[in-house]
Amino acid sequence: MAAPVLVFGHKNPDNDALSAAVGYAYLKNELARAKGEDAVYEACRLGGFPPETKKILADRGIEEPRLIEGVGEGDKVILVDHNEVPQSADGIEQAEILEIVDHHRLGGMTTAQPLRFNAMPVGSTSAIVAREFEIQGVELPQDIAALLLGAMLTDTVIMKSPTTTDFDRAIIAKTAAYVGVDPVEYGMEIFKCRSNPAELPIAKVVNADAKEFELANGNKVYIGQFETVDLQAVLNREDEIRAAIKELVAKKGYQFVLFFATDILAEGSQFIVEGDTQFVNDVFGIDVTGKSVWMPGVLSRKKQVAAPILAHA
Ligand code: ZN
Ligand code: ZN
Repeated sequence: MAAPVLVFGHKNPDNDALSAAVGYAYLKNELARAKGEDAVYEACRLGGFPPETKKILADRGIEEPRLIEGVGEGDKVILVDHNEVPQSADGIEQAEILEIVDHHRLGGMTTAQPLRFNAMPVGSTSAIVAREFEIQGVELPQDIAALLLGAMLTDTVIMKSPTTTDFDRAIIAKTAAYVGVDPVEYGMEIFKCRSNPAELPIAKVVNADAKEFELANGNKVYIGQFETVDLQAVLNREDEIRAAIKELVAKKGYQFVLFFATDILAEGSQFIVEGDTQFVNDVFGIDVTGKSVWMPGVLSRKKQVAAPILAHA
């Protein structure tokens, strides 16, 4: 039997990166089986689990994606929920990318071979994956549907994020009805199973959902988001957060590190920045130098934080 095709999302995996990988590997295996091909697709991950993913996988009896350190020559891979080298597996330049399924901007990756590229400007990769089951005519098991639905809801902050489109709302409604849950209640349950920010090690708060981006000037920046239903518990630890991101700036040479805590009930985010704070001040017309700033309505890293920063550079 051929080596499995590795299906994985970005580093520092969020619920969408992991759920989309599991869902898409399942779909590809079903399609291969239907065609009598012996190809095998294996869901993998490039880091630890967010607590909500761990819980849904356990509740639904779904096998956890395998942790891989990197990839190399001879590996065949499918990327989900990302398409940028710094966010992908170490050694990705040596691997053969068969497909990309994503909902992010294009980030400069090049490939040696033609590939299937399935990108849509929608709220989650998991929504694209759920739609693929319909397009390909593959039956979506209820447990996988529940997993994908969870990721559609975390990635769109229960449809409050401005990244949410009519496509997302339609597929969320349909999938929720199929699973037999109310989408808003189900989403709130998922957010509540995230760890208590008062008790988490500070490195987990800062790195739980963080991504590295390269500016046009070649400098790297690190943007971390922590979504919570208890913003005050996060802000009580501002000094610790500041010390941790300051250390990241020094150790990794980032131009700046922007950490923001998103209050999904109040629908806004508190920015904490270290490093070149002036850059961030200029982009957003705010003053985050030495103090944190509340940004009403900011829920989406991709659309409302990373995009203006990358456009400014
Ligand atoms: Zn993601
Ligand atoms: Zn995503």
